[in-house]
Amino acid sequence: MSEVLGTYPWLREGWSRLQAYLNTGRVPQALLMTGAAGIGKRHLALLLAQRLLCRAPGEFGCGHCASCALIAAGTHPDLIQVGPVEPGKPITVDAIRGLIATLGLKPQYSGYRVVILAPAHQMNVNAANSLLKTLEEPERHTVMLLLSEQPALLPATIASRCQRFALSLPSRDAVLEFLSAHGQAAQAEVLWSIAGGAPLRALELAGSSVVEIRAGFFADWSDLAAGREQPATVAEKWAKSALDELADWMLSWTGDLIRLKSDPHCRRLDNPDLSKSLQALAARLHLTAVFDYLDRLNHARRLLSGQANRQLLLEELLIRWAWLARSPP
Ligand SMILES: [Zn+2]
Repeated sequence: MSEVLGTYPWLREGWSRLQAYLNTGRVPQALLMTGAAGIGKRHLALLLAQRLLCRAPGEFGCGHCASCALIAAGTHPDLIQVGPVEPGKPITVDAIRGLIATLGLKPQYSGYRVVILAPAHQMNVNAANSLLKTLEEPERHTVMLLLSEQPALLPATIASRCQRFALSLPSRDAVLEFLSAHGQAAQAEVLWSIAGGAPLRALELAGSSVVEIRAGFFADWSDLAAGREQPATVAEKWAKSALDELADWMLSWTGDLIRLKSDPHCRRLDNPDLSKSLQALAARLHLTAVFDYLDRLNHARRLLSGQANRQLLLEELLIRWAWLARSPP
């Protein structure tokens, strides 16, 4: 068992699918690895890269040869990692041109060359166009691993030239176990919920104050429902926050309201830390109103992946919420 799979056991299933490629000698030249942010795509990609570049591989890279040592040091010349200069920024055409220039040279060591490009959906249009030719006419023994948590944002021309490789979220219990093993037993459920079920994202959030921050947003949201706050005021207050994340949180609160409408003592909430306030809210709301709001949120979530006017969308969601929550059941 490799150390990576020991630490992140939910990746074993994905690894066994990658091994099937390795065992038949049919590793795709372009693989689009998808799955939620914080699921461990890069860990799996690196495991595959090491296995391909190792000079004495078994099931995994051997961990001892010169190649494995260079990978561990992050300096293997035939493992090329491409990404944005700063997190959140686009991957530019210059980065892709640099990659193409490198691929034009001979590999430093005989054998494979592995490219890990992530997050692939952050390539801007020129970068994607520039990469296209490389995907159409791949160099021999070059394996391109494109990682993305939002593959729908990739141009179809890119996606269609890659073999799809999807990683699905581990079970809730598996994530809770992982978080407990990393000293987060006390807030494991809340972290699981806030991270949308992605284990590494949950662990990363454990070190931040996101639980408190989210509780603050929830307080605004309940104040709106109770008429203690006005939609315009809350919209202004929320304007600088990541709307995708806010929409996901509202979706998760609304999901809990629906659970509590059918069972006021439901113990399997996504937001156990907010259960008291959610119970009080659920008691005041009509089930059809909550379902109506869930529809609006899901609709908004889809619009957010496109070119929607985000501020307008946020205001609309808050006005709708205040209106639904204040209508008598
Ligand atoms: Zn090795």
